[in-house]
Amino acid sequence: MKIAIASGKGGTGKTTVAVNLALALENVQLFDCDVEEPNCHLFLDIDLEKVEDVNIPTPVIDKSKCDLCGKCSEFCRFNAIAVLPKEVMVFPALCHGCGGCTLVCPNGAISEEDRSIGIIDKNKGNDGFEFYRGLLDIGEPMASPVIAALKKHIDVDRTAIIDSPPGTACPVITSVGDVDYCVLVTESTPFGFHDLLLAIDVVKTLEIPFGVIINRYDIGDNSVEEYCISQQIPILMKIPHDMKIARLYSEGIPFVVRMPEWKDRFVQLFDTIRHEYEEARS
Ligand code: SF4
Ligand code: SF4
Repeated sequence: MKIAIASGKGGTGKTTVAVNLALALENVQLFDCDVEEPNCHLFLDIDLEKVEDVNIPTPVIDKSKCDLCGKCSEFCRFNAIAVLPKEVMVFPALCHGCGGCTLVCPNGAISEEDRSIGIIDKNKGNDGFEFYRGLLDIGEPMASPVIAALKKHIDVDRTAIIDSPPGTACPVITSVGDVDYCVLVTESTPFGFHDLLLAIDVVKTLEIPFGVIINRYDIGDNSVEEYCISQQIPILMKIPHDMKIARLYSEGIPFVVRMPEWKDRFVQLFDTIRHEYEEARS
């Protein structure tokens, strides 16, 4: 199964859930898709090594062949090419590397050059637990190609846990778009509830089965729980605002490592997710 851990809002405990779930299971891969600010590795006692550069093919114009017809600029929906009276300008940071401009150029004036935008790295060694992390270069605006490259490392014979970026924009869609199940992590505050509703809209639109985890459930109010019950959305787990969990978090220690009862609960969570997924398919 591919299971995404997502949330409308940052800081709800999404990474905590992803890391603890991954460590509770066997034969698992964990993917940190929050490529603008990955942090799963801070909770894992591992060394990382680069396995891949992520490149985008970016157009290069051969002025000697270009007659300034404007077809490339008309085609590019991202405004990454502008045809001026005397030259063609390319804006690499806006280019999504779709290759369309090269195809539509009637004069063969466009070739492509790889532009590096980030890297993929993974944990050294492999004792049954694989961790992959995408890292977008500073200043690069497009996270999705790095996430797409990261997800190519998914092994279909293993359980893949995908720590999605926060929010509901393109990087989230790339992260959760093809998963079997999505876990939405929230906190029961007005802000958490508001952004949970946005995240629910996304997974409903993508027709992905989903359930909710309420983190720090004993702060805030009951709005999330009441909403989930009224909408028949499964509440998969409730994590309390527990000082021991908070202390372990501050030391970079996943709480399943020191609190074995929680390891059992995360294994049960996985069983529940599998059951919910099968129900949704039938
Ligand atoms: S490759 Fe695609 S996104 Fe990039 S400039 Fe060409 S048409 Fe635009
Ligand atoms: S489509 Fe080709 S020939 Fe036309 S303006 Fe663009 S690069 Fe030049």
